[in-house]
Amino acid sequence: MKNITLLGATGSIGKSTLLVVDLHPDRFNIFALSANTNWQQMLELCNKYQPNYAVMVDEQSAEKLSNAIITDTQVLSGAQALDEIVAHQNTDFVMAAIVGAAGMSSALCAAKAGKRIMLANKESLVLAGDIFMKAVGTFNAELIPVDSEHSAIFQCLQSGKSGLSKIQLTASGGPFLHTPINQFKFITPDQACAHPNWSMGRKISVDSATMMNKGLEVIEAHYLFSLAPKQIDVVVHPQSIVHSSVYYEDGSTLSQLGNPDMRTAISYAMSYPQRINSGVATLDLSNTPALEFYQPDFGKFTCLKLAFEALKKGGNAMITINAANEIAVEHFLNHKIDFLGIPKIIDQTLSTMKHTTLNSLEEVINNDFVAREMARETIKRYG
Ligand code: NAD
Ligand code: MG
Repeated sequence: MKNITLLGATGSIGKSTLLVVDLHPDRFNIFALSANTNWQQMLELCNKYQPNYAVMVDEQSAEKLSNAIITDTQVLSGAQALDEIVAHQNTDFVMAAIVGAAGMSSALCAAKAGKRIMLANKESLVLAGDIFMKAVGTFNAELIPVDSEHSAIFQCLQSGKSGLSKIQLTASGGPFLHTPINQFKFITPDQACAHPNWSMGRKISVDSATMMNKGLEVIEAHYLFSLAPKQIDVVVHPQSIVHSSVYYEDGSTLSQLGNPDMRTAISYAMSYPQRINSGVATLDLSNTPALEFYQPDFGKFTCLKLAFEALKKGGNAMITINAANEIAVEHFLNHKIDFLGIPKIIDQTLSTMKHTTLNSLEEVINNDFVAREMARETIKRYG
């Protein structure tokens, strides 16, 4: 029996994780759950899973949960409590499924505690990739990707990296793949969040629509698989059936295919090196629409170009684009800037921030803070 600490339990990845747990009550136990503010949903989860701990990061929500709870679950509050539950001696696996930079500290804490980290929170690696990977090595943690593309690469690389020439991340292209760029300024948050293949949280849905999600994933892949930027390629594949591919020098290409459902990658991270039923229907290739592949359009999806540039630039550039992106997406979702404002804010923040190298977590956190302030200033000028 493995004890799971599930961070971001009320989110899209959190819910899918619980669906996999439901299929295997003999293998997995929910030891701790966390959420930000949604205490009503957390109350339902506590009633069902009876975890030892429930963390609400927001203090008022923790108080409300505490007053309503009837199980023996201990309710904790604040971001600090996330670190406590991940490092707890009874935690075996940590599902890191908080959205954004807010998920970095707890994911890193899981690495330092030598746990199996099932990593959905790609932002952790974008912010602190070097520090994170070093902690995984030093503390003998196990890092298993949950992002579907990285799970695909991880699965394809099971026979090793010998003779590897490049990896190729597939991108669906999002809802605006075929929308002319002159229509981009009219895109609403609801249109941006209506992804054709995947059902996800609102932030990552907007990231998919701008293709910044793929940009963040290129950076994630660079750290996870320790590859040079030129070994990481992106191909647009609107059907989201081929989840990603690895290319070898002998002419072989290995790809991982499946229906677009995160439970495959989640269950693999939970059962690795074995495989278990995830609840996802088997792919029926004879009933699948024709698979298409295109070159990404960097002129239209400038966020993807900015992410590649930030990776090549190194230092604080990746932290800066991530911070500016989070602020810009939040403002877009709140109808404060238009869709085209997102790449503009990121680009301007990146060119205003001084380029430096960062050597400590404190410097990373500080850079993230300063970049957010600068992005807000840029939005004031933009708006
Ligand atoms: P979501 O918005 O659906 O859920 C986010 C979760 O994080 C919620 O449980 C929320 O309570 C919690 N949260 C939000 N802000 C927080 C804060 N400040 N402190 C602590 N907790 C906070 O997001 P999601 O779609 O499940 O995505 C989660 C992560 O997984 C993201 O990093 C995303 O990029 C990654 N991911 C998601 C998918 C997907 O299909 N949804 C696929 C690949 C990767
Ligand atoms: Mg992905």
